[in-house]
Amino acid sequence: MTVENNVVLKLAKVQDAHLKDKTVVARVDYNVPMKDGVVTDDTRIRATLKTLKLLLDAGCKVVLMAHLGRPKGKPDPKYSLAPIAPRLAKLAGVKVHFAADCVGPEADKVIAAAKNGEIVLLENLRYHPEEEKNDAAFAKQLAGHGEFFVQEAFGALHRAHASTAAIAKFLPGAIGFLVQKELEYLDKAMVNPVRPFLAIIGGAKVSDKINVLYSLLDKVDTLIIGGGMAYTFLAAQNTNIGKSLLEAEKVDEAKAIILKAFKNNVEMLLPADHRVAREIKPDAAVEITQAMAVPDGWIGVDIGPRTELLFTDKIKGAKTIFWNGPVGVFEIPAFASGSIAVAKVMAEATKNGAATILGGGDTLSVLKTAKVDASQMSHCSTGGGASLEFVEGKPLPGLVALSQK
Ligand code: AMP
Repeated sequence: MTVENNVVLKLAKVQDAHLKDKTVVARVDYNVPMKDGVVTDDTRIRATLKTLKLLLDAGCKVVLMAHLGRPKGKPDPKYSLAPIAPRLAKLAGVKVHFAADCVGPEADKVIAAAKNGEIVLLENLRYHPEEEKNDAAFAKQLAGHGEFFVQEAFGALHRAHASTAAIAKFLPGAIGFLVQKELEYLDKAMVNPVRPFLAIIGGAKVSDKINVLYSLLDKVDTLIIGGGMAYTFLAAQNTNIGKSLLEAEKVDEAKAIILKAFKNNVEMLLPADHRVAREIKPDAAVEITQAMAVPDGWIGVDIGPRTELLFTDKIKGAKTIFWNGPVGVFEIPAFASGSIAVAKVMAEATKNGAATILGGGDTLSVLKTAKVDASQMSHCSTGGGASLEFVEGKPLPGLVALSQK
């Protein structure tokens, strides 16, 4: 159903599997923000509810595997998934048992005690180093918890880990509703977009997004670059950038990207003016430049008002829009204007019929800052890294493993 590097993957869907009264092991992405042991944003948990409901209604016992943060292969209470269990119980409306280890006697005991129609949430997979090593013996232990595997962790599909890849060797499996929805939107945009197709890419570093930029240039009509990474592109055109973020070793790569845009007849837009400050600090005074250059001693912290108009106008005219990364240091209110304007115009474009797709992470935080609800976009991806790797055309190990069966 999905095209990756021109290979069509055959993926079974959870709604087509015969799962009545089975014990199902599902990989989910519950890598959610928490503060003092309380979940502060449960978007990723909610995103799995449709699949959970299907399984619970079919009388399944559902064993959930997930990770949180980077505990480096050993137990660390800071990264415990325990606080997620009560939130999930409330959202799913069923009993959620928590197992303090994802394998071994503790997991076996809790799973055995749970009834059909209930959920078991296993402790952080990454407490075991074997998880990130895609270890087959560890994957076999995880697979031993059930009779069927459901892949619902879109945000972890780009990782070849035991619970996302190796496990598929030991169980029949299918993708859940969330993974289906993510792939559907990304597929539609990348393979057969309604044009004009515009991508707006921001964020801090060019190096993180070089491959995505190259790949987008084969697909889009317009590419907008904003945020910290825009300054390396401006430097590549010999524009003065003052003390703005510069990746000097990426200037040649930026030149190559500009050349590719030219060759592919892609309209490429960079900031034409800037909001600048002497320091990246909440109380720093902000000035607006008159032109594309940033004066010596100043840092470009946001796009300027003329650029805001230029970018939002272009976005209004597009029919498919992919957005990843803020166009300024949006965490500081005085530097958030450009990113807020982009979020708002994306909502407007959606209302006017454009397909709008947002990469995860920081881009979703911008929506919050702009007080734009995620429902005002066609699709907000739950996985920043996975959606970028999909756009790059890289095979996602979590899908490839399932399609080989
Ligand atoms: P990323 O994770 O690559 O999407 O980058 C997001 C980060 O880029 C945010 O924390 C922003 O503060 C940062 N950012 C955006 N614009 C700039 C800029 N002009 N200078 C420095 N950092 C920026």
